[in-house]
Amino acid sequence: MLSSFPQGGIVQVIAAARLAKAKGVLAALLISCGLLAHAQTSASAPNSDPTYQALRNVGLGGEAFTVSKLDVKRDAGHFHLHSGTVCFLAPVNGKVTGAVFQGDGTLILDPPIDVERKNLKMLTGENEFSENFDHAVFRFTDSTYDEIKKGSTPSTGTCDAGPLKESQHATRHRLHFNLDARILADVFKSSPGGLFVAFIHGSRYSDKMLFAVDPQGVPEFAESVVGFDPIAINLSPEEVCLMTYGENKHGYWSAFHFSNEYNNGVPPAGEQKGVIHIASQKLDTTIEKNGFLSGKATTTLVARENEIRVLPFRLYRTLRVQSVTGGNGKPLSFIQEDKNDDFQFSVILPAPLAAGEKTSITTTYSGKEAVIDEGGGNYYPASREDWYPATGGPAPSDFSDYDMTFRIPKNLQITATGAMLSQTIEGGQSVSIWKSEVPQQVAGFQLGDLKEEDVKASSTDVTVAAYANREPPDFIRPLMGHALGNFSTVSIMKGPLSEAQYAVTLYSGYFGPLPVKRLSISQQTACTYGQSWPQLVWLPICSFFDSTQRHAFGLDFRDRGYWDAVTPHEVAHQWWGHLVGFGSYRDQWISEGFSDFSASLFLQNAYGEKGEKMFLKFWSDERLSITEKSKMGFRPIDVGPLTLGYRLNNGRSGDWVARGIIYPKGAFVLHMIRMMMWDRQYHDQLFKETMQDFVKTYTGRSATTEDFKAIVEKHMTDQMKTFGNGSMDWFFNEYVYGTELPTYNLETADFTPDASGSVILNLKLKQSGVSDNFRMLVPIYLELSNGSMFFLGRARLVGNTTYEQKIPLKGLQGAPRRALINYYYDVLAN
Ligand SMILES: [Zn+2]
Repeated sequence: MLSSFPQGGIVQVIAAARLAKAKGVLAALLISCGLLAHAQTSASAPNSDPTYQALRNVGLGGEAFTVSKLDVKRDAGHFHLHSGTVCFLAPVNGKVTGAVFQGDGTLILDPPIDVERKNLKMLTGENEFSENFDHAVFRFTDSTYDEIKKGSTPSTGTCDAGPLKESQHATRHRLHFNLDARILADVFKSSPGGLFVAFIHGSRYSDKMLFAVDPQGVPEFAESVVGFDPIAINLSPEEVCLMTYGENKHGYWSAFHFSNEYNNGVPPAGEQKGVIHIASQKLDTTIEKNGFLSGKATTTLVARENEIRVLPFRLYRTLRVQSVTGGNGKPLSFIQEDKNDDFQFSVILPAPLAAGEKTSITTTYSGKEAVIDEGGGNYYPASREDWYPATGGPAPSDFSDYDMTFRIPKNLQITATGAMLSQTIEGGQSVSIWKSEVPQQVAGFQLGDLKEEDVKASSTDVTVAAYANREPPDFIRPLMGHALGNFSTVSIMKGPLSEAQYAVTLYSGYFGPLPVKRLSISQQTACTYGQSWPQLVWLPICSFFDSTQRHAFGLDFRDRGYWDAVTPHEVAHQWWGHLVGFGSYRDQWISEGFSDFSASLFLQNAYGEKGEKMFLKFWSDERLSITEKSKMGFRPIDVGPLTLGYRLNNGRSGDWVARGIIYPKGAFVLHMIRMMMWDRQYHDQLFKETMQDFVKTYTGRSATTEDFKAIVEKHMTDQMKTFGNGSMDWFFNEYVYGTELPTYNLETADFTPDASGSVILNLKLKQSGVSDNFRMLVPIYLELSNGSMFFLGRARLVGNTTYEQKIPLKGLQGAPRRALINYYYDVLAN
C-alpha cells in the first residue's frame, strides 16, 4: 500500500519542519490535560491491573536448578543446555512465566522449509545454524517450567538478574513491544498457553538474538517509534521466528509455520490469526485547527479463540487513552505504556469471551502529532492506520465496516474512505458523516484547506474527486520564487486527476469494476511516498513538481520513472491490497507487484504513440532495480525470493533491498504471465479473464501466492498447460519461490529464401546460467519491413541448452528487418 522512495534532498527539510511544529503545539496539551482529568474520575487508570503489574515488575523467584545435558525443543529450535543453572521467575497468578539460564548452551535451528534453510545459509555462510550462548532468558506460558524442573536437580545456586532486566529493557525500549501484555493474556487462562520466547546472548552470530514460538502468530516484536525500523514486520500467521535486533545486525533470520503444518508439503495458506476480529467501528473524531485529535471509538469485535480477556489493539503512540467502557457502560481496565516505550493499547475484560462471542467497547483517546499542522491549511495524517483502535494482534486482511463522523474547523474540508452521507455546519465545526461502501481493512482521511474537482471515469460508475490545497505548506514557502517559482498544487492537480480518471477506466476493463461509487485523490505533504486506502489515494507533494524542480531538489536521483508511475500505482491498489487483500508478508508482492505492473499498463495505454516507449523504459527500469548491485554488494534478485517479503531487508543485505524485489520483480511475474497469455488474435483477452476471475474470487478477503497460482492454472493456455504438465509450478518455483535469472544469447537470427520464394528464419538461441530443470517459453519477434513488431511464437527451452530451428515465414511480404527475442521484456533475464 505504501509506495516509498529512498530518502534524500528535501526530505530532511520536511523532517525539520515537522519537528519545529511538534514543539510548538502547546494549546493542544492543555486540551489533553482537561480531558484526562475528567476521564480519570470515572475510569480505571492505565496499567493498573494487579496481575499486569505483577508481570511488569516480575523478578527472579527463589527456585534454582542445576541442568546437565538437557534438551529443550521448541518446534525447529533445539536448545541444548549442556551444563549450568536455571533460575525461575517468581510466579504470577500461580504461573511461572520465565527463567534465566547461565552456563553452556547451544541453539540449533533446523527450519522445515528449503527457502528458510537457504536463507540461514546465506546469512551464516554455514550449512547448520548453530549458536553458542553463555546465558539466555526464557519467557513462556507453555510447559517449559515443568519440563526443565523434571529434567534437572534442585540447586542452592543463584543467577544474575541482569539478563532478565536486559530482556525487559530490550522489549520496552528497543523493540517497543509489550511482551508483558502478551503474557498476561495467557496467564489469565485456565490452561497453559503456547508462547515461548528466548533471548539469547550468543557468541557466534549475535548477542541480541530472539527466538519465538507463538500459536497465535508471531507477535510484531518490533514497532517503529521514530522513523523507519526495518524489523517492524508482521510475520503472522507464521508461528515461529528467529530475529536479531543489534544495531548493525538486525533482521529476521528465519520464520515459518509450525513444522508439522508442512507435513503435506504445502504451506498453510490464508490462516487467520489474531485473537479478535473487528466486525465494525463507529468512530467520532474531532480534529482541531492545530491538528490535535480526539476520538471516541465504539468497536464491535468477535473473539476467535476461547478464554479471551486481553484485547490487543494498534493505536498511534501519541494518542493517549482516557477511558474504556464495556457494552454496559462500566469502565474497563486497560494497558498503555509510555508513547516512547512499548506503547500498544490493550483492554482487559472482567470476564473472558468464548470463541465466536461478540462484544462492544468504547474508547476515548486524544493527542497531538497524530495529525500534523504543516501550515497554510495543510495537514499531514502521521498516523495512517492507527488513529483509532485497530486490530492490534497480527491479523492480515481483517475486513470491517466503518461508520465515521468527523468534526473539523468549518473553514477546512475533509475527504475520507467510504461514502460521505452528510455534511453540516454546527457552530464553528464542519461535521461530516461517512460510511464504508464495502468492508475495509483500514480507514483514513485527509483534511485541509482543500479545493475539490470531480470527474467521472468513463465506462464505470466511479466519480474521481481530486483535492488540492489552496496554499502550500510552510516547508515549501521558502523554496517558492526560487526553484519552485509560483508553485501551486491546485493548478497542477488536473494532471493527477486525469491520470486517476484514465487509470480507473483502464483497470476496470482489465481487472473488473470497483464496487464503489467514489475515489478521492488528494495531495499530501509527504514528499516521497504515496499511499492508497480504500477509496482514498494520497499523492506525494513532490510528484507535483516538474522535472526541473525535482532536479533542483535532488529528487530525480535514480527515480526510475517513480514520478510517472506513482498515481497509476496507487490507484491500482484499489484492486491490489484493498479489493483483494494479501495473506501474509510472503504474499505482499501480489499487492505491490501487481500495482507496479498496473502502472505499466497505464503507461502503455495512456500516452498514445509515446506509450510503447514509456512501457519499454518502465520494464527496463524495473529490470535494473532487480539486477543492479547495491552498496552492500548484492544484486537484489540474489538476496532471496519474492516470498521473503520485507524480511529481505536485514543488516547484511541492506535496508532497501526488499523494495528492489517486491515491487519490480512482483510486477515482472505478472508481466511474464500476461506475455505468456498474449495471443495474436485475442490479445489480452485471456489475461483479462484470469485477472477478473482472481478479483471476483477474492474480493473482500485475502489471497495467497498459491491462490493466485491456482487461478492462473485455471485459465492458462494449452501451450502453458503442456509445457508444465498441467501445472504452473515450474514458473512459480523459478520466479516466485526461487531466485534464478537466465541469460539468453540469440546466436543466429538470419533469413534465407526457400525454394517457393518465401523466407526461412534460421534461429539459434542459447539459454544459460540456469539449473538443469529451469524451463522457459521465450517469445520470438520479427521487426517487419514497415518497422512494426510481429509476434512469431515461443521457443521452449529447458536447462542450459541451445534451441535451433529453421522456421518458414509463410505469407510474409519480403524479408523482415530482423528477428529478436524478449522485445517487450517478456522474460526477466540478464
Ligand atoms: Zn504500493
